[in-house]
Amino acid sequence: MAAELIFQPVAQLSALLETAKISSVELLQAFVARTKAVDGRVKAFNSFDEPGALALALAADERRAQGRARGPLDGIPVGFKDVIAVEGQPLTCSSKMLANYVSPYDATATTNLKAAGMIPWGRLNMDEFAMGSSTENSAFGPTSNPWDLSRVPGGSSGGAAAAVAAGEAPASLGSDTGGSIRQPAALCGIVGLKPTYGLVSRYGLAAFASSLDQIGTFAHTVEDAALLLGAVAGHDQRDSTSFATPVPDYRAELKQRTGPWRLGVPREFFGAGLDPEVGAAVRQAIEFYRRSGCEIREVSMPFTAEYAVAAYYIIATAECSSNLARYDGMRYGHRSAAATNAVDLYFKSRAEGFGEEVKRRIILGTYVLSSGYYDAYYLRAQKVRTLIRDEFMRVFQECDALLSPTSPTAAFKIGEKVSDPLAMYLNDIYTIGVNLAGLPGISVPCGFTGGGLPIGLQVIGQPFQESALLAIARAYEQGHDWHTKHPVL
Ligand code: GLN
Repeated sequence: MAAELIFQPVAQLSALLETAKISSVELLQAFVARTKAVDGRVKAFNSFDEPGALALALAADERRAQGRARGPLDGIPVGFKDVIAVEGQPLTCSSKMLANYVSPYDATATTNLKAAGMIPWGRLNMDEFAMGSSTENSAFGPTSNPWDLSRVPGGSSGGAAAAVAAGEAPASLGSDTGGSIRQPAALCGIVGLKPTYGLVSRYGLAAFASSLDQIGTFAHTVEDAALLLGAVAGHDQRDSTSFATPVPDYRAELKQRTGPWRLGVPREFFGAGLDPEVGAAVRQAIEFYRRSGCEIREVSMPFTAEYAVAAYYIIATAECSSNLARYDGMRYGHRSAAATNAVDLYFKSRAEGFGEEVKRRIILGTYVLSSGYYDAYYLRAQKVRTLIRDEFMRVFQECDALLSPTSPTAAFKIGEKVSDPLAMYLNDIYTIGVNLAGLPGISVPCGFTGGGLPIGLQVIGQPFQESALLAIARAYEQGHDWHTKHPVL
């Protein structure tokens, strides 16, 4: 039984619970056993709370027995990228700076999932403070890709993607600032959804770059992404950028929205740097949509292709230099034992607490914000950002959504790019524009390389048009069985 459970989509687990084929406790035990069996090799988890989760599973079973089940997600475990607060659990951001920090409160996304009855099952590894594309920047060591343990799972939400791909959790929450949900989902062969900026509250998400950060979901299927999004989305007074928009029943809408759609294919997203096997799989996916009656339009987005990475690495570093100023060794987090006075404490705590990539970004960000360079870099990058959004909005006048590769390559080897920041940054070339423009995007599995590594198709939607985005992604999924393939561990 347990072996069959661990790769079931959330919707399927939900049906099993509803019909009393399994209990929530049994379900949790299956994931606990799986995690204990494989996580020594995958290293997706920073920590997990077995007794706490078990108590919640018992409570869920009791509710169900009394006819008080809270809905389709009640009693189902969910993992959290270690950047989203769960009361009483560690919140490390995979940084030495917060290695001993325990969150005193729940993020709004956590509150919402708990209200739906979901069981927070463990803290998932990531690049430190969500800065990276491989999970190698974690202070606790890298996570491995379940399809090939010598390769990265992508990042920065690498643990959150690997845990679902490896059957250690049926779903998880991550954050996406420049691709950190979509890219690891692609590299691990699962579905990763980054909602429109403002749809999911950022309250309780440790900030990296606040104008870009967005919480989203990992799961095996598009239907699961719809279910989870419905649970976490919604206006929140505690996040001033949260948008007051009604939250539809995304799962129900999946069935109501049936194309055909006008789908744009940005020519520049198929140029130099794209691995030929990835390009071929994505082109086949585009052909599938054409054959199913969609109108495929080649569009041109030269500005986004040329400038998104550069603008992102100015804006994101500027915001991170400001957001990470709070880690001062005084209020919370790592405090140097070697300091002799207050200023020294500030310097030493930060020098000891932050890793190399985080320091690189704080230095870059401080530079682009400094007087004399502000206009030349930061202000200019903000103008470029507006032009990138304009470019998306222009193509959306003639398309319902866009199709592209999620990542230019499949999973690369651990160690391959870690000493070359530029090569690492270029991994985000197809995902970053979406964050700069605040759009929703999803990655769905669309094949494998000859070497057996998963490939992702990215679908980019119009702002707050998640229902259409999910329906388009699901149309592809229903015509293929990639999402039913799982790694052997
Ligand atoms: N890889 C990108 C970066 O390093 C995106 C990270 C993210 O989305 N959190 O900044």
